[in-house]
Amino acid sequence: MQQILPGTLYVVATPIGNLGDISPRAVEVLTQVDLVLAEDTRHTAQLLRHFGLSRPMQSLHEHNERQKMESVVQRLQEGQSIALVSDAGTPLVSDPGFPLLRRMRELNMPVVAVPGPCAAIAALSVAGLPTDRFVFEGFLPSRRGARQTRLQSLAADARTLVFYESGKRLADMLEDLCLVFGPLREAAVARELTKLYESLYRGRLGELAQQSSSDPNMQRGELVVLVEGRSIAEEEQDHDLDRVLSVLLPVLPLSQAVKLACALTGLARNQVYKRATDLHKDIDLP
Ligand code: SAM
Repeated sequence: MQQILPGTLYVVATPIGNLGDISPRAVEVLTQVDLVLAEDTRHTAQLLRHFGLSRPMQSLHEHNERQKMESVVQRLQEGQSIALVSDAGTPLVSDPGFPLLRRMRELNMPVVAVPGPCAAIAALSVAGLPTDRFVFEGFLPSRRGARQTRLQSLAADARTLVFYESGKRLADMLEDLCLVFGPLREAAVARELTKLYESLYRGRLGELAQQSSSDPNMQRGELVVLVEGRSIAEEEQDHDLDRVLSVLLPVLPLSQAVKLACALTGLARNQVYKRATDLHKDIDLP
């Protein structure tokens, strides 16, 4: 049996769907702690009931976590043991808890991880995209302009990109991914992992964007979207495009330079146009 230490915060991962994924150690900790801090106490009460547990509970969510922090710290300093859980998966991964954790570290107080499910890692493990280097980007901004700006900042990253998204925003997100990264990058959408309607959609960004607008099932439930990083081939293609544009832009109007560059490189017009307008600002035109 896991020995619970007084004055310690346990950060406990819980299932992302399938209740069978909770670890025996997580159950042992949740059985014994003095208090469970839950993102949504009703949701966690159901989970505890399923395992025949009942512990004192308090809510800790994004709207109260700063106010709650000092009283939690005080309980711990008095010697209580506390578990932090979220609605699903690993706390602090796109979930509440960061201010409390930072405070605990400032005060040099003990924190113990009880690891387990995490949608990002589960998706990476089955997507078939490179996993040796990846970057977790969580949720993209919901406003289109801000979302595209964030994506631009990731366009040159060679690591696999991992995003969280809800089904109802998937089509818009894939459209923006195509716009910024081009339609050819390999990608995956992992939907409802570990649940009844678990599915994995694989293909190029353009194919997935098309599929998402015609397949309503793809837009249901919880999703992880993964996109391969920028490849060396893509990098070389961009160099070729820059070389072509740097010759054409000083001697032709923008629209003609774009048209010719598309014909010479075989790249999509919106990609060429975007790069041409960026370069246009920097080039000394006659
Ligand atoms: N802390 C959680 C974790 O460890 O994965 C993530 C919490 S975040 C608020 C919720 C998002 O995680 C969802 O919108 C979805 O993008 C992703 N997610 C959670 N469960 C999932 C599942 N079963 N299948 C696919 N994505 C999931």
